[in-house]
Formats: sequence, structure tokens, C-alpha cells
Amino acid sequence: MTTRLRDFAAMSVVQFLGMSRDAVEHLSSDLEKDISVHSALRQVNQYQLIEDPLSQTFLAEHEFFFGDTADTLSTKYLYDGYFEIDTSPASDKIPVLGYTKMLDMIVQNSPTEASLHILLDQEVTGVDVQEDKRVVIKCRNGQTYQAGAVIVTLPLGVLKANDVKFTPGLSPKMKGAIKRVGIGTVNKLVVEFNQRVWPNKTQQITVAMRDSADQGKFSILTSFQAIVKKPVIVTYAVSQIGKQSETLSDAELKDIALSRPNTSFGTALDNVTVVNISGTKWKSDRFSRGSYSFPALVVTETSTRQCTPFPML
Ligand SMILES: Cc1cc2nc3c(=O)[nH]c(=O)nc-3n(C[C@H](O)[C@H](O)[C@H](O)COP(=O)(O)OP(=O)(O)OC[C@H]3O[C@@H](n4cnc5c(N)ncnc54)[C@H](O)[C@@H]3O)c2cc1C
Repeated sequence: MTTRLRDFAAMSVVQFLGMSRDAVEHLSSDLEKDISVHSALRQVNQYQLIEDPLSQTFLAEHEFFFGDTADTLSTKYLYDGYFEIDTSPASDKIPVLGYTKMLDMIVQNSPTEASLHILLDQEVTGVDVQEDKRVVIKCRNGQTYQAGAVIVTLPLGVLKANDVKFTPGLSPKMKGAIKRVGIGTVNKLVVEFNQRVWPNKTQQITVAMRDSADQGKFSILTSFQAIVKKPVIVTYAVSQIGKQSETLSDAELKDIALSRPNTSFGTALDNVTVVNISGTKWKSDRFSRGSYSFPALVVTETSTRQCTPFPML
């Protein structure tokens, strides 16, 4: 039985988002045939207000979390333990010294130098398993390495693009899994303003876009003021808009960044300028070819269950 959203007019944004999540999750357990998250929201929202800014906010949050449009996200497997999102306030941690520090600690704590030997700037082009089971790793610079076994942790986007040749080829089961799991694009735009543009205690704002075509267009903004002690916000471009953002010039990105405080707070801020701006390009980076994976809308349960190439309990 489908749970529907009721008393829409009386809801706050937080209530609407929470109830929408519950309703879509409830619907997901009833579904025989998978549908997209976009369709699911339409089904549970008896008022058909899919173009409403609240609905757009719900969709924008899902697209940000999963990295692709709500039309391509699977409802059936979204809340099926595929991804577990801990939304409690203490769930997110930020390594303020950067991720490199983590790696440094792992290397320093390694018992011997030989046990963790990291080689940089070695672009792998081939992984060949020889007849005697030894593995030969081929690099673009002509260098080769031999090993008894390898663990491949290439990003899904790189595997999808067949940038690395496996000999013999990967099994049909692995190839099927690589094909079926979706890889989305979420790009960050880090903007340093010349002055504070942000309410003191607010950490994140989701702008309810009036036009659904603007969804995913830097509509989620996070303040890093408390962490970096500067007026810095990070905003995100998702899916198609994420891909398009990689082709924008710094001047175009600055225009978008300057429009955001106005859109978010409804009033123009005087004398605000952008001091520094920097954006990621995960889709066009040939060492990632996307941001993170998501449960793609698939037709049959069998094919989804084969998303992982390994036996799972
Ligand atoms: C915008 C964004 C926000 C995120 N937010 C979070 C978050 O808040 N919390 C969280 O836990 N996770 C987050 N993630 C996800 C997290 O970053 C990834 O899940 C994680 O980095 C994946 O680690 P990995 O080792 O599998 O792959 P990667 O970190 O991608 O490592 C793969 C490595 O393979 C290298 N490589 C690629 N091709 C080759 C080749 N041919 N030869 C040799 N090397 C190659 C790459 O250069 C890279 O160093 C986020 C990701 C993005 C993009």
C-alpha cells in the first residue's frame, strides 16, 4: 500500500523532506517493478506538486547524495542498504589537515618500508595474468611490474571506459556489474569571498530552485567559515550540470558564485567580490571519469543483485 503525503500546506521544509523520504522508502518496499526516484515522488505526492520548490529540494538532495538525476536513480534499491546514509548531526567528519595526512600516517605506521611501497606517476594501461599465474602490470611509460596477485581499485568510471586492458578479459559477471552500477558526476566549486556572506550558525543551505532545469545547479551550499576561518563556501554541480560546469571559464564560475548569496538570501549583498575560486572536474579527469557510484534504475531484480561481482552474505 502506498503512503501518501498529506497536509502538505501545514508542513515545514524539514517535515516535508522527512515525510517524503519515509513515503518513498515505504513505497520502495512495495514495488514489484523498479521505478525512478522522480516517479516515486510523483506517486507519493498526492498533490502532484512535482514542480514545487519543496519537491525540487527533495530531488536535489537525492541527486547530490547519489550523483545523478532522479530520473536515473533506482527507488527499489536506494534504501536497500546499497548506500547507508547516516544523517545524524555527528555523522560527517572533515579531516581538517587534508587526506594526505591520513596516508602519511598509514605509511609512517607501516612496520617496514617494503611493506608499503607507494609508486607515484605510474599510469597502468594493462593487467596481464600469465600462464604461470604471475601478474604483469604494464604502465604507459613502458615500465612493467610483476606480482603474485593484484588488488585492482580503479575508479568505476575508469573501468567503464575500458582504459585499462585486462588479459584475459574480465568475466562476464564482472563486466555486467561494471556496466550496471551507475557513475554520477558531482563537482565542487570552492569560493572564497572578500567578506562574510553567510548567517553565522548555518552550515548548509539548499536553495529551492523555481525552475526544474536549474536543479543540480549549485543549489546546495556549505559554509566552511568555521573550518578555514575565512568566508569560504563550497557549492556543488550535479549530473548533466556537473558535466557542463567543467567547461565553464573562471569568469563564468565567478558570476554563478556571486549570484548564489543573492539567490539564497533574497537580497543583493553590497561590495561582495570573489577572491579565489576553484572547481573540480571529476568527469573529464581521466583518472576518475566521474564522482561516485549510485544504484541505477534497472529492470530486473536479478540484474541488480549481480551489481557486485563477488559473493555476498
Ligand atoms: C564531490 C565528492 C564528494 C564526496 N564526499 C564524500 C564524503 O563526504 N564522505 C565519503 O566518505 N566519501 C565521499 N566521496 C567519495 C570518496 O571520495 C570516494 O568514495 C573514495 O575516494 C573512493 O576511493 P577509491 O580508493 O575507491 O578511489 P579513488 O580515491 O578514486 O582512487 C583511485 C585511484 O586510482 C588512480 N587511477 C585511476 N586510473 C589509473 C590508472 N590507469 N593507473 C594508475 N592509477 C589510476 C586515481 O588517480 C586514484 O588515485 C566523495 C566524492 C566526491 C567526488
